Amino acid sequence: MDDNLKAIQRAQAETAIKRLKDHSFETSWFETKEEALQYLKESILHGSSIGVGGSMTLEEMGVIAWLTGNPDYAFLDRYHTDDREKIFHESMNADVYLMSSNAVTLDGCLYNVDGTGNRVAALIYGPKKVYVLCGTNKLVNDVDSAVKRVKEIAAPANNVRLHKDNPCATLGSCMNCMRPTTICNQFVLTRRSGTPNRIHVILINESLGY
Ligand code: SF4
Repeated sequence: MDDNLKAIQRAQAETAIKRLKDHSFETSWFETKEEALQYLKESILHGSSIGVGGSMTLEEMGVIAWLTGNPDYAFLDRYHTDDREKIFHESMNADVYLMSSNAVTLDGCLYNVDGTGNRVAALIYGPKKVYVLCGTNKLVNDVDSAVKRVKEIAAPANNVRLHKDNPCATLGSCMNCMRPTTICNQFVLTRRSGTPNRIHVILINESLGY
């Protein structure tokens, strides 16, 4: 991302952060993914149990590599298990949950679409602390734009990533399928952090994930 675009994204992030704070979210801002990762390393207490939602942002930030096999934490590792469902349930009671969001609106809301629903369940009523890590590519004007972003970018790209034979994977945009293989079962709009500061949105001035 060039410096001019970064300046615009920074200004948009400032707007989003003001509104997110109004909605009782905790917020942080970093220019780079390395700074954001360092912040997590310094913020999460050693010995904490940590669950994660499926996320290209977490992969690209190096979060998964940091946690895998890390003796300082009880990582509920969804990527190396014979029983992923058990990990998903245990993650609901973890000390900390890490995830991204499909979109963050400039008026201070999160919007997520899930297939299994483990990620949005953890966001809504899971761990006492949830960190939501998002590149500025996830910023959109409002909820309508968030829905559009998921239909035109996030969901089709995730279908390709997951090798799903759903129409969006070949047509490039959502066809509102009702196939058993759809990854779009739960549409969740999070307007506020019901428990103040439980949900901590970390915005990063890079393009991360879809
Ligand atoms: S509803 Fe179906 S077509 Fe639309 S994005 Fe989801 S999986 Fe793709």
